[in-house]
Amino acid sequence: MYELKFDPDLCLACDSNACLVKCQHMDIDQETARTEILKLCDGESSFVLQDCVTCYACEEYCPNGNHPFYLIVQKQEEFNLLPLPDPLVKSGIQVGIPFRGEPEIQEITGTALNMGVFSQLASRVEGRLFENLTIMSGDSRKMFHYFCQLMYLHYGKTSVINERLDKIIQTIAAHKVKEVVHFHDECFGTYTSYAPAFGIEVPFKSIHLFEYLYNKLLELRDDIKPLGYKVAYQRPCSSRLSPDKHPFVAKIFDLIGVEAADREYVDENAMCCGATILGQKKEGSRKYCAEIQKKNIDDMKKAGAQICVFNCPACMQTLGMPVSKQGIMPLFLSDLCRLAIGENAA
Ligand code: SF4
Ligand code: SF4
Repeated sequence: MYELKFDPDLCLACDSNACLVKCQHMDIDQETARTEILKLCDGESSFVLQDCVTCYACEEYCPNGNHPFYLIVQKQEEFNLLPLPDPLVKSGIQVGIPFRGEPEIQEITGTALNMGVFSQLASRVEGRLFENLTIMSGDSRKMFHYFCQLMYLHYGKTSVINERLDKIIQTIAAHKVKEVVHFHDECFGTYTSYAPAFGIEVPFKSIHLFEYLYNKLLELRDDIKPLGYKVAYQRPCSSRLSPDKHPFVAKIFDLIGVEAADREYVDENAMCCGATILGQKKEGSRKYCAEIQKKNIDDMKKAGAQICVFNCPACMQTLGMPVSKQGIMPLFLSDLCRLAIGENAA
């Protein structure tokens, strides 16, 4: 049984209580924030467990690396205050079962590109940016062998992640791979944040897709034609688990000659895509989700964005269509990078 490394003494000594004070989805003053986080530390329940929309952001807000979001999710499960309705939790857990049949394991000598559960997006990783990577994926039946399971944080179920993750890590490691670039930001967060927080060993090095793209673009620098667009970036919730990789967005924008749209909901103040809120059982969730999405899209429009780039297929699925209806083109950031080196990534 894995145990979360969470230090209550850090909360006792904390003079910001930023985890809850900065929460965009609850209006919490500092005194209340301190009281509620200390209640959770003491094993008591808190209104936070019911009101949390699982946006992951407090993981980034905590200046002490103390994993407040993982603690919240763990307590949601302990007090049976799951964010989603029970039937959805039950069916969702079934969908992601990873070990039906045996995965096909082949030794990978160079760097691998882990597609996670998105094997159907293989056409998104073609061209010179990806030519030296070996794609690690299963077909439509076996892709769940590589499903990092972190989605179940939105279900209030760390137990499901902890039950399955070690074997998924062993499946990846069985390819004898030393370095893995993760196509989905959430996989990167799993292996570099969640696993260490729960003491789960990861025997391979993880590389963030943006760091990889930046370095690859540097190699191809002579082929880059500045694109000249104004671009909004829609941060995925899982990027809160690796905020040290966020600066690569600005560095890539510089390299490919695009201007970052001057958004209100940007960097630490980013607003999630709302996908997870839609199905939550709290009254008014559907309306709240619509409000969040409208805020994001209005913000992009106001900033004059011509393109909105994503790093998460779920965000793309949620916001892609509404964004394009407003005349803003939705693209994966990797596709925008391919355009900059003259490849048609449509
Ligand atoms: S989780 Fe982090 S920000 Fe929140 S009270 Fe504890 S140390 Fe402070
Ligand atoms: S995960 Fe998001 S909604 Fe939940 S407490 Fe943290 S910042 Fe607030």
